[in-house]
Amino acid sequence: MATVLDIAKRNPNAAPVAVSDAARAAGFIEKTAELTVAAGAAPGGASLVGLTRDQLKDSLAAIGVPEREFKMRVAQLWHWIYFRGARDFAEMTNMGKELRAKLAAAYTLARPQVVSEQVSKDGTRKWLIRMASTGPLDKGAEIECVYIPEVDRGTLCVSSQVGCTLTCSFCHTGTQRLVRNLTSAEIVAQLIVARDAIGDWPGATPPEGAFVPSDGGRFVSNIVFMGMGEPLYNTDNVVAAIDVMSDGEGLTLSRRRITVSTSGVVPQMERLGAEANTMLAISLHAVRDELRDELVPINRKYDIKQLLDACRAYPGLSNARRITFEYVMLKGVNDSDSDARKLVQLLKGIPAKINLIPFNPWPGSKYECSDWERIERFSEIVYRAGYASPVRTPRGRDILAACGQLKSETEKLRARARMMAEQGIGAEGVYAVGNGE
Ligand code: SAH
Ligand code: SF4
Repeated sequence: MATVLDIAKRNPNAAPVAVSDAARAAGFIEKTAELTVAAGAAPGGASLVGLTRDQLKDSLAAIGVPEREFKMRVAQLWHWIYFRGARDFAEMTNMGKELRAKLAAAYTLARPQVVSEQVSKDGTRKWLIRMASTGPLDKGAEIECVYIPEVDRGTLCVSSQVGCTLTCSFCHTGTQRLVRNLTSAEIVAQLIVARDAIGDWPGATPPEGAFVPSDGGRFVSNIVFMGMGEPLYNTDNVVAAIDVMSDGEGLTLSRRRITVSTSGVVPQMERLGAEANTMLAISLHAVRDELRDELVPINRKYDIKQLLDACRAYPGLSNARRITFEYVMLKGVNDSDSDARKLVQLLKGIPAKINLIPFNPWPGSKYECSDWERIERFSEIVYRAGYASPVRTPRGRDILAACGQLKSETEKLRARARMMAEQGIGAEGVYAVGNGE
């Protein structure tokens, strides 16, 4: 636990309590977001980095650019920001000096701040990124973003929320107290930050000794929404960010190389399919409702049957376009032969890939990873049933960058909570803990 609210002031006998743990213990499905930021809002107001075409148009209108020029000017900005990675308006040489000066007076091309970069011995990089402040009480939310290079691809694992309102019992992010949705610009900015750091812009070069794909393709070729947060609790911003990331004139990431992972927010899955049309991954982790209720508490709202029905309805499925089912291997919990058999039986008829994830422990976690022989045996049953079942090699374990380990250490209590703590009012009210409905 990084930060706990000390309620001892009110009750000298009470131990410091982390509210999210209390919420878990009480069996809550979710916490309520602490801060809400209007969908589509710019990160710090002034930076144009991460904005959608419409937002750029509004930014131009705000400095008096005539309407008849919008289309051309937006296209120019788009090219400089998203194709070339420009950091200074002065680079935008196909725009008049006067306009460049006007832009520079009103806006910046600032990126969110990289607070730290950790490089694993396997080449994985993890950045702690501080977003611009959203108001006087906010010092800037921090999120983590991970880059996983392989020979023929580079995958960027992005966050969709600061923390997560859900409380999956095996996931470190779920213990984080501060929760808010990221704006679409903040989601896109993670890709920009990664490209800056690994030199993935025309004319740029990677840092000395960096591991990047060597197949001649982009250094960031794939995006997975598997960082912090539940993307389908922030669908508006996730969809808008995917539009920007996949735009053919800018960042040009194919939608087929973007995967959104969800714990199973069933009502939003159809929208994701219709509006973003990305690849889908489902955090299944259990094949019986009773166990899934405990591991992935959102199952109490939308059970396995509802979830799999929504999967069957996901548009565009085929053998070439399968849903990935993620299954974390927890020793003695969900890893028996009968679990494996039930798994393949459940997925019958769904074009599926099964991704077995060795559990990544984190300080204080109550589970253990299944033994290697158990994982192999489980994988064998799945394989015999006709599913490729790659075991996801944990990457970046030495820098706590692997799946489910992300959790920014520098959580900040919002002002009210701090004030209450100072006045000895105690921890209640830091979270309006939801009742799961
Ligand atoms: N909230 C989304 C996406 C982020 S989590 C979701 O739950 O799908 C990305 C993946 O990591 C999910 O499958 C999640 O269940 C898994 N995960 C979480 N904690 C983990 C841990 N400690 N070890 C291994 N995988 C974990
Ligand atoms: Fe949230 Fe996903 Fe972690 Fe569950 S596994 S707490 S949904 S980030």
